[in-house]
Amino acid sequence: MKTQILSPAEVEKAAGILKGGGLLGIPTETVYGLGADGLNPMAVGQIFQAKGRPQDNPLILHIWSAGWLERYCEDIPDMAYRLAEAFWPGPLTMILKCKRRTPQELEELKNGPVCSYTHFGPRVIPDAATAGLDTVGMRCPAHPLCREVIRLAQTPIAAPSGNTSGRPSPTTARHMLEDMEGKIPAILDGGPCAVGVESTILDLTCRPPRLLRPGGVTLEQLREVLGEVAVDPAVTRQMEAGEKPRAPGMKYRHYAPKAPVVAVRGDPERGAAYIREHLSHTRWDGVICFEEFLPMFAEGPTERPVISLGPATDQGEQARRLFDALRAMDGTDVKRIWAQCPGDGGIGLAVANRLNKAAGFHIIEV
Ligand code: AMP
Ligand code: MG
Repeated sequence: MKTQILSPAEVEKAAGILKGGGLLGIPTETVYGLGADGLNPMAVGQIFQAKGRPQDNPLILHIWSAGWLERYCEDIPDMAYRLAEAFWPGPLTMILKCKRRTPQELEELKNGPVCSYTHFGPRVIPDAATAGLDTVGMRCPAHPLCREVIRLAQTPIAAPSGNTSGRPSPTTARHMLEDMEGKIPAILDGGPCAVGVESTILDLTCRPPRLLRPGGVTLEQLREVLGEVAVDPAVTRQMEAGEKPRAPGMKYRHYAPKAPVVAVRGDPERGAAYIREHLSHTRWDGVICFEEFLPMFAEGPTERPVISLGPATDQGEQARRLFDALRAMDGTDVKRIWAQCPGDGGIGLAVANRLNKAAGFHIIEV
């Protein structure tokens, strides 16, 4: 199969692929997603194949507006609507209870007209998308092209990030093509992603609500709207053996480039000095550092790969650049990557979380 890159003018063709049960690379403001019709179990099944994703890792459903929540969720707390008001469309995923079918609805379904992908599961969303959980992740994305696809397809789009499982998420159509060439019919090119890290995931099925993954909507912003918000321990540390994760995705290796990563946290100047001191002076050690420290690593006889993450104080820029930087390192032959890691404020929490996972929590505090 040849993977086509579609221009924004071809959005109707893109929506047609989805409606026809095919896979579509889809731009969102967070990262590129690998989308399928979320109500079609066969289409959803192909996502897992194309990514090499474990079947027990559920997908997020992308919807047009909070008005669609009632179609797919039940026991929706008032908090969900307050959050939607504040942050949708935008990079926030809410975990809610998936709507169950009544016995009567199931009966009607069995006796009514069916198509090749009608599913008879106990819940309105097929188990293939929710990994059989009784909850579902819902997000209303902001990217105009993504919204246009949802509007045209009139179905919730199930989409995880568009990378091969375990690799850094794609933030451009070209990056997605690196991973999905020959595996999917098309990628809709919506330009580089504005946020650069995946959505914030908030579990609203527990009290207080719990942050499962930090992202573009910050913990501070969530607390402004909701008051108390708990933070899952997996956000900042490695899950221990035998520990049961709240989100199935938490237990898998993520975002990793080919070479091992060492994350260095703390005061940026001290961090840069630490890396400079411990770095091997060969081209086998690559560096991802804040803009200010580029000159410290670029000098010398070795042609070492050095990539800027943006200014130390600009965490939004760091979020936009992180996955590109990790992927760029894959284009070199480095054997180790040193990376400066921001502090936990604002979107820094999301950048630090991705970087720490990429590093397998090999973190040095300076
Ligand atoms: P990604 O593959 O990067 O799009 O990640 C999707 C994330 O959403 C995974 O880590 C999933 O575990 C998480 N997720 C999706 N649905 C649920 C759910 N019902 N409960 C908990 N986490 C979920
Ligand atoms: Mg992912």
